[in-house]
Amino acid sequence: MKRIPELIMLDLDGTLYVGKQAIPGAIDCLKTLRERDIQLRFLTNTTTQSHDELIAQLRVMGFTLEDEELISAPAAAKLELLAIQQKLRRPVRIWPVVADSIRQDFSEFFWDEQRPDFVVLGDIGDAWDLTLINRLFNVMHSGAELIALHKNRFWQTEEGLKADIGFFVAGLEYICSKNARLMGKPNRAFFQQVLDSARVDAINAMMVGDDIDSDVDGAQQMGIRGCLVRTGKYREAYAEQSSVRPNYILDSIAGLNELLR
Ligand SMILES: [Mg+2]
Repeated sequence: MKRIPELIMLDLDGTLYVGKQAIPGAIDCLKTLRERDIQLRFLTNTTTQSHDELIAQLRVMGFTLEDEELISAPAAAKLELLAIQQKLRRPVRIWPVVADSIRQDFSEFFWDEQRPDFVVLGDIGDAWDLTLINRLFNVMHSGAELIALHKNRFWQTEEGLKADIGFFVAGLEYICSKNARLMGKPNRAFFQQVLDSARVDAINAMMVGDDIDSDVDGAQQMGIRGCLVRTGKYREAYAEQSSVRPNYILDSIAGLNELLR
């Protein structure tokens, strides 16, 4: 028999929507989950939109959510930097290599592109070039650490699959011989922050997402049940060759309430 979760963690992109289109049935599904008194949290590795922009976009599409229910990778990075400052007892110098829309999220830190303590790396779309890569290599080679907002391999866009920033994170880690600090899913601290915010134990939580690595494996590593949806970036061949075995697989989020009957 299935234990009904007290908390459901929902991935955004590819799970609740693709592009600007809500997945059919997603809005009603969330409504029903709320009627059943199941807590919801929205977990995203998206680094192209600010917290406020994401909330606004979800509401325009018809989803209902509170500001605090959205937990994003950029917000986690900000918390991490604040914790580091507190530990070091001095302001840290950062070089935010992020989209313009989330640059403001890091405005309280001291920016220094020449001698940063930390490079904060997110999605910058088509702005990547070899000049930037070499500048990043040099500051990291001189001691800067890399904070990666996530290390996703690829993502689903309206035009098809696209390479994600995991490509650049892995490349920089390799050429600089150092590991990045990863902020979003599947980072354990990220999931723990969400469990803490809801005051729910891992065993009573479930994660639903289209990414078998970041969403499903990330959750399962924490003892949280992982449910894979066959929407967004889901590809049958990729899921089948994976060693990750989701607890549940659904055609889409629309089937979640039925699964939990
Ligand atoms: Mg996704």
